[in-house]
Amino acid sequence: MDLLNITNWGLNISKKDGSPLLISGPCSAETKEQVADTCQQIAALGIDILRAGIWKPRTRPGSFEGLGSIALPWLIEAGKTNKLPVCCEVANAFHVQEALKHGVDILWIGARTTVNPFAVQEIADALQHKDIPVFVKNPVNPDLELWIGAIERLNKVGIRKIAAIHRGFSVYNSPKYRNQPQWEIPIELHRRYPNLEIICDPSHIAGKRALLYEIAQKALDLNFDGLMIEAHIHPDQAWSDALQQLNPEGLDKLLKQLTSRQTESDNPDYLRKIHAFRELIDQLDSETLDLIDERMKIVRKIGHYKKASNIAVLQIERWKYVREMCIKKAEKLGISSKFVEEFISTIHNESIDQQTTIMRN
Ligand code: PEP
Ligand code: MN
Repeated sequence: MDLLNITNWGLNISKKDGSPLLISGPCSAETKEQVADTCQQIAALGIDILRAGIWKPRTRPGSFEGLGSIALPWLIEAGKTNKLPVCCEVANAFHVQEALKHGVDILWIGARTTVNPFAVQEIADALQHKDIPVFVKNPVNPDLELWIGAIERLNKVGIRKIAAIHRGFSVYNSPKYRNQPQWEIPIELHRRYPNLEIICDPSHIAGKRALLYEIAQKALDLNFDGLMIEAHIHPDQAWSDALQQLNPEGLDKLLKQLTSRQTESDNPDYLRKIHAFRELIDQLDSETLDLIDERMKIVRKIGHYKKASNIAVLQIERWKYVREMCIKKAEKLGISSKFVEEFISTIHNESIDQQTTIMRN
């Protein structure tokens, strides 16, 4: 069930020139000088909002857990000096009270908090009747409903300026990224709530500097509304997330490399070509479904033969053969074998379901 006020969601953060909203600053506020120097240098790069972690929910005890309220005036001062709004993470009602008391402009709820409805509700209750924008990071696990639920809790207490932050999803032994992007989840969020702006946090997805560009560019290619990128005056000495933070020079370089794309074009030539291609795609999608339907008809026939002959639905050797044949063909065609493997597995699962139904009836 969705809440009614969906059309009011969103910060209206899109800038006139269509460029993404940029949020940057250190993972954690460490010293007055570190906050001041970092913010001063990155503000000069056209950043829109400054960030710094004041309270840090860390995975393991013993890691740096943030300096707490003592660091809030440093962030506020950096905002005033550079004439930029500032944001920080809040994880409970006390953090909210402290951040509001000091004058933080925007709050964000971190991934380890979004995951916990009691914690989100506590924050929402502390924000009742307050007019402050809130960013909601996705929960650590790939659960879209939990992400939406956190947004709804804020919406219910009257917070109207809400944006989502996609920071990736944690998996055990992540092969490449610190957190898996699973782009299909923010895409589905966007499909369901087109007015809700989504910001990408490449820093916590990538986990290392070298991967920031590909994630940030992909987010722009997917038309995300903004980017939150961690920056630190001396990243290698950072007290948290040292590997993923950029120094101001690195941030400048990254921002210059990024290309932001338009959502639409009114160029008649472009529109004519894209329309023709889309007609082809629609035709091919329809033919693909007809082929899958043909395949399912045969699958059902086989189901009836298996039932009559008392043969089990799953023939593991046959499945191995089909899977390998498709993967080999994918390699020849230059299509990702991971995609083909998932595609044929999905079709195979549907085939099994259909034959199982036949066996039971
Ligand atoms: C952060 O932004 O520094 C942070 C802790 O993020 P996340 O909640 O995404 O882990
Ligand atoms: Mn961080």
